[in-house]
Amino acid sequence: MAGRLAGKTAIVTGSSSGIGQSIAIRLASEGANIVVDYRNHPEGADATKQQIETVGAKAIVVHADVSKLADTQQLVDQAWQQFGGCDILVNNAGIERAADFWEVTEADYDAVLGINLKGAFFLTQAFVRRLRDAKRPGRIVNISSVHEDMAFPHFSTYCASKGAMRMLARNLAVELGPLGITVNNIAPGAIMTPINTSLLDDKPKLDALLKNIPLGRMGKPEEVAGLAAFLASDEAAYITGSTYVIDGGLMVNYHEQ
Ligand code: NAP
Repeated sequence: MAGRLAGKTAIVTGSSSGIGQSIAIRLASEGANIVVDYRNHPEGADATKQQIETVGAKAIVVHADVSKLADTQQLVDQAWQQFGGCDILVNNAGIERAADFWEVTEADYDAVLGINLKGAFFLTQAFVRRLRDAKRPGRIVNISSVHEDMAFPHFSTYCASKGAMRMLARNLAVELGPLGITVNNIAPGAIMTPINTSLLDDKPKLDALLKNIPLGRMGKPEEVAGLAAFLASDEAAYITGSTYVIDGGLMVNYHEQ
């Protein structure tokens, strides 16, 4: 297949839904083979695979809970076994749990940090070890959030996970640069995906949010996918350790009363 990512292979975690699904399809449309990962929704993963095949690329579906180290290793092993290597890792799988800080349980903490941070951490480690041993370069793109930086009251576990992802990208950019591996984050604002179902169903809350977004609308998963494809491509060869905000202007919005 021709395209910016022709001949490349990408693992996209959480590609059975939302942003991850769009990224998987977009990378495929630019020529990459894709390892589609899911946890609870095989039907979503199968739909992603079908769309990838429709654009003429190849996909395998792997059931891997990224919070489990053995599963993350399986994602990397499958990529190498089925496609002979892997060039791009997109750490996208993520969840959020709402709770006042004083109500957060150990189970909430372990679930959110386990998927959003530990999952990305150890999958990246497994990916990097294979690249290092094979002396191959690579691209890592993390889907973090505007909540790398911006407070999100009642979502302290989510903010802790995304804030840590910010520092992880900066640290790994320094450590992995000599191996030819770049690491960048994408920080989306409010994007129309199932993670926001309760927001989309709450009109007053949604209207209040839209008032804070200078572009006056939520973002589309495809818009995040376009940025991910750029960061995964050779056009981004000299970019590492950065966060790209894609939020319709939300983070920089401020009005004097
Ligand atoms: P989504 O539609 O709910 O998708 C989440 C994806 O993560 C699903 O494919 C889900 O797989 C997967 N997943 C969850 N736990 C997993 C696990 N343990 N192992 C493997 N996969 C797992 O949400 P989304 O909005 O696309 O979110 C994707 C990423 O974008 C997240 O990291 C989120 O924090 C970030 N983000 C989203 C927004 C937004 O407004 N939507 C804004 C900023 C950042 P299954 O469904 O198969 O379980």
